[in-house]
Amino acid sequence: MAGRYHEGITPFRCGLAPWTLDLGPWTRDPGLGPWSFYAAPVVTNTELAEALFSLAESRAPGEERLALLRAAYAVFDHPHELAARRRLPEAVPLDALPTVAMLRACRGGDALSAAVQRLLGPHASRGGPTRGGYLSAAETATWLASPGAADPRHLRGAVHWHTRASDGAATLDAMARACLRRGASWAVVADHSRGLACVNGLDAEGVAIQRRAVDAWNRRHGDELHILQGLEAEILDDGRLDLPRGQRAGLLVLAAIHTELTERGDQTTRILRTLDEPGVWALAHPRGRLFARRGGVRANWEVVFRAAAAAGVLIEVNGFPRRQDPDPPVLRLALDAGCRFVLASDAHHPRHLEFDATALALAAAAGVPADRILNFDPLDKLQSAVEG
Ligand SMILES: [Zn+2]
Ligand SMILES: [Zn+2]
Repeated sequence: MAGRYHEGITPFRCGLAPWTLDLGPWTRDPGLGPWSFYAAPVVTNTELAEALFSLAESRAPGEERLALLRAAYAVFDHPHELAARRRLPEAVPLDALPTVAMLRACRGGDALSAAVQRLLGPHASRGGPTRGGYLSAAETATWLASPGAADPRHLRGAVHWHTRASDGAATLDAMARACLRRGASWAVVADHSRGLACVNGLDAEGVAIQRRAVDAWNRRHGDELHILQGLEAEILDDGRLDLPRGQRAGLLVLAAIHTELTERGDQTTRILRTLDEPGVWALAHPRGRLFARRGGVRANWEVVFRAAAAAGVLIEVNGFPRRQDPDPPVLRLALDAGCRFVLASDAHHPRHLEFDATALALAAAAGVPADRILNFDPLDKLQSAVEG
């Protein structure tokens, strides 16, 4: 993002005439008037947040570190580029405000690095390799507004969300009503299977109970929103699933890695074994990465995606903002391999359902066309593909 030119920068201070730069996907802030394009490289939210994360990491645990961390997340999650706004996000803690304002005033990456170095003093930042390659909320909004992006309002399918049956916060009916309010006409519930030790997943009985709830919803409201029952099954160490073959019938199985992520080396063989398993519908959050926590699995993605395309297994684009998995460079490998995609919110609360828009932004950033995305399909096309 370094060196990207932005709008709304201190009019006339640099003595340049207003530019009419091609800002690409960036949009003007209409509140700034007609003369708001200036050739001043400014600090993006991503750069500013990373600077704050670095400062936080250099501090001992305590209130200052916490304030810097909260400020970093407030900046990263702010829906507008702060360089184009006069105000800082209200979520920035008061004691971190001067630091944020000072860093935001830096013009360009070099000035920002110098300022961070001064603030670091004798401390060293541990650096943040687990934070690279994520879209900030402002970048997400920008990609969604870019000319090539599909409209999130046209998504028909709301896929991969959790209920109280595993680790979600709401009932199946509450989640389904929220899908309806977002304009979906079909949905795929995907609670965890029992094999995931850290949550209360569904065993065969739990799946059967949920099946009855799904059927009851479909009888009453199926013409408005048809729910398909999925299950987020666990990929075991050897690539098999924790869900016995006999229990996969009638379920859309999303295979996901949650354990043994980084302890081992290359995991291509493990994932290829999963793709060989019968009844796998989609490979969920393939990398298993988590923002600021872990980089995720290593694999030969070209080989994995070629196998997925050959097996007809969908590649999930997980839009949960702390996941964003796969990231655009890896997503492009799947696109080149001929894969089809399903966008997922991985919602654990009705409000999270909007995260499928983040998945759509990732798809736009990778150049995935709408006709490769299952969520735009009508229900009958999906059903015939599942049954066929
Ligand atoms: Zn998961
Ligand atoms: Zn999930």
